[in-house]
Amino acid sequence: MPKTVECPPTYWFHHCRFLSVEKIENDASARRIAASERRLRYRRAYYIVDVSTPVDLAFGFYQEMRAFYSDVFELPLPPGHRFPGGKYRLLRQRVSELSRVLDIELLEAPAARTDELTLVHSSAYVQKVREGHLSEMEQRRIGFPWSRKMVQRCLRSCGGTVAAARVALEDGLAVHLAGGTHHAFTDAGQGFCVFNDVAVAARTLLKDGRVHRVAIIDCDVHQGNGTAAIFREDDRVFTFSMHGDRNFPFRKCDSDLDIPLPDGTGDAEYLETLQSALNHQLPIADCDCVFYLAGADPYVDDRLGRLSLTKQGLAARDQLVLRTCCQADVAAVIVMAGGYAPNLNDIADIHARTVAISASAHGGLLRSPEALL
Ligand SMILES: [Zn+2]
Repeated sequence: MPKTVECPPTYWFHHCRFLSVEKIENDASARRIAASERRLRYRRAYYIVDVSTPVDLAFGFYQEMRAFYSDVFELPLPPGHRFPGGKYRLLRQRVSELSRVLDIELLEAPAARTDELTLVHSSAYVQKVREGHLSEMEQRRIGFPWSRKMVQRCLRSCGGTVAAARVALEDGLAVHLAGGTHHAFTDAGQGFCVFNDVAVAARTLLKDGRVHRVAIIDCDVHQGNGTAAIFREDDRVFTFSMHGDRNFPFRKCDSDLDIPLPDGTGDAEYLETLQSALNHQLPIADCDCVFYLAGADPYVDDRLGRLSLTKQGLAARDQLVLRTCCQADVAAVIVMAGGYAPNLNDIADIHARTVAISASAHGGLLRSPEALL
């Protein structure tokens, strides 16, 4: 008979259980047991552990991590446009493949509502975007030509982060396979960003009273100037940006904590700096929710990057951030942010790895084994 072992209350999911069995024949039999148990849960996680192996070798986690996508809403761009719009579809395909081995549930992003957008953006700006009254200059600053489809896409890519944020409070963690449009200000867009999805999602959770303090960990290679400006006077939101000093935007806005990095910064220096910030400078343990912008653009081959991280370095970065969130029992919302490598497969590799690491964190596999016992 399978044995059920309760987890300690400090664990990520407060009521999750371990389901131990004397002998597990293979993964398929484990999945059958999990499938029958799954009906019983939401906010319940089950592990299947062979009692003869250490807990860190647990091979199964059977609660799906929810991941939202918005790429099915086309972003019309003129031929030769430098924004790599195709990366999102490629990423969803990769994640769909990953979902055969990791339990990931893919969901279509809902559109952000006007009452959510106006928690951050001025009504006049939202109306201008919706109705196509952006000037030539405003469109140039954004970098996308206005179209009805472009509006629909931007509403979805903002709504996906809002939805992921709501889910993260239930499940502990959720992902949006887009988002991270951190150059959008209250009344203007910039640098491929129309609405500031993370800011809208953070304000939505705060308004609903579901969280009291939020941290934004922005590891995109470009400074999160819009986010910094939006929350400058808002003590409930701690903004952190670690970025290339000589990158766009050239006029930066002050976050609560900014770490500008010199050109060519590599894995070792980057990870050491990030670890130190996470350990000593970020109030993660005081927060109810963390938004993590896992930009793929610190990658060495990125066209707009200027830093020199490898794919392994970026994966180590994701692990560092998510392990910190897990250990602090803080809900985490992961968004993709930028990525401009000439080979779209490189961008998809990096983002897909982020999603896989998120699924591991969701499954508790990034947590140290001692914490499980
Ligand atoms: Zn970027």
